[in-house]
Amino acid sequence: MSTSSHKQQLLNALYEPFRGCTGCHFKMPKATRIVWGDGTPDSPIIFIGEAPGKDEDIQGKPFVGRSGKLLNRILSSLESAREKVFITNIVKCRPPKNRRPLPQEIEISRPLLYEQIKIIQPKVICTLGSSALEALIGKQVKITQTRGKPFAWHGIIVLPTYHPAYILRNPKELDTLSADIKQALSLSL
Ligand code: URA
Repeated sequence: MSTSSHKQQLLNALYEPFRGCTGCHFKMPKATRIVWGDGTPDSPIIFIGEAPGKDEDIQGKPFVGRSGKLLNRILSSLESAREKVFITNIVKCRPPKNRRPLPQEIEISRPLLYEQIKIIQPKVICTLGSSALEALIGKQVKITQTRGKPFAWHGIIVLPTYHPAYILRNPKELDTLSADIKQALSLSL
């Protein structure tokens, strides 16, 4: 059995109890489905965003809307691709009206994110935006001070950067996001 299929089987087993969920504690009211993750669990790098939006809720995959298209473009420009990495969110269901996940929603989602990380065993985690970083490490941060600076967390290198949605609103920071992702990818080699 290849590592990749073994990890995928472990992820499937992790997700299994939630299949057909119609409102357990991970499922936001009005969310259509749980959006677990996308890409290869054999990847040495995980990208973590905040929560699914409308497009992600429809398609069942993280980062497939405007932010996702930007992320895909950056990965391609760096000779990578979303199929080569693993992408997920802290919160697995779309919050109503795309609001920021509430602290208690992050609390109940965190053990599941940690299980995904335990199974995938990445060398690098690239957090996209302050919510993802704060949820991962469990404390408040200033993204402007932490971004682009890798640090060790439980034996994994964490490289925080901006959320692609922020870059869509502030395109002058595009090169910064690309440079951070480039750094994250090279740390994962
Ligand atoms: N924003 C996120 O944080 N995650 C997605 O999956 C899409 C947009």
